[in-house]
Amino acid sequence: MEEKSKTLTQHPVKLWKILNVGIDLLNFVQTTINMSTLKPFYKIILTMSLCLVGLALNSQNIEGKKIVVIDPGHGGKDSGAIGLNGIMEKDIVLSIAKAMIRLNSITKSDFEIYLTRYKDTLISLSDRTRLARNLKADLFISLHCNQSENPKARGVEVYVNARGGNFLMESILLAYGLQKHMKTKLGFESRGVKFGNFQVLRDLVDFGPSVLVEFGFLSNWDEIIFLSFSTNTNSLASIILMCLI
Ligand SMILES: [Zn+2]
Repeated sequence: MEEKSKTLTQHPVKLWKILNVGIDLLNFVQTTINMSTLKPFYKIILTMSLCLVGLALNSQNIEGKKIVVIDPGHGGKDSGAIGLNGIMEKDIVLSIAKAMIRLNSITKSDFEIYLTRYKDTLISLSDRTRLARNLKADLFISLHCNQSENPKARGVEVYVNARGGNFLMESILLAYGLQKHMKTKLGFESRGVKFGNFQVLRDLVDFGPSVLVEFGFLSNWDEIIFLSFSTNTNSLASIILMCLI
């Protein structure tokens, strides 16, 4: 919760953006009219008005940001799948989620990203979806890795809610984009968009678009090795961000 409140209020960033728009407007006006011809009183009024316009424009921009909740599955005593080399699903998905936060903060994106967990802690499934509701999230993406008794099983699966609901089409479009880009950009085999009965998807069926991604199999050596490198988990994070746009 402490981490969440830290990211909820990024005041320095917002203030900086507001000032930037105000300065841009002032520069624009100064290049189109000759300020020196104005009387000092009108100059002050004009400058103050432009700052207020900048504030209003930027407030709209900030308010207009879409809220995305990323849910790194498992955590704490629940490791999720464990790879043949000991790598754990809970750690892989957390590193992807954290990479999303980092990448999003260095791009001028239209998204505010929150995580259901920022550390190696176990959060209940209902608390994860409750957070999405409380934040009035526009989108919820749950991150997982797969496992199979068949060591040859490989590829990416993206699930949407099997119960349908009002947001099924948006969820399917996002799921389709995710599996398509992971295939074309990273060479993952695509196992397609599937319907699943996962609680996190069920809970949000009438709330908003939501998908659950299974990033490859921790029972397949090729995919274990791929997911063991941070450069690759960073690539997965950037692909998810790209699909949000
Ligand atoms: Zn999982």
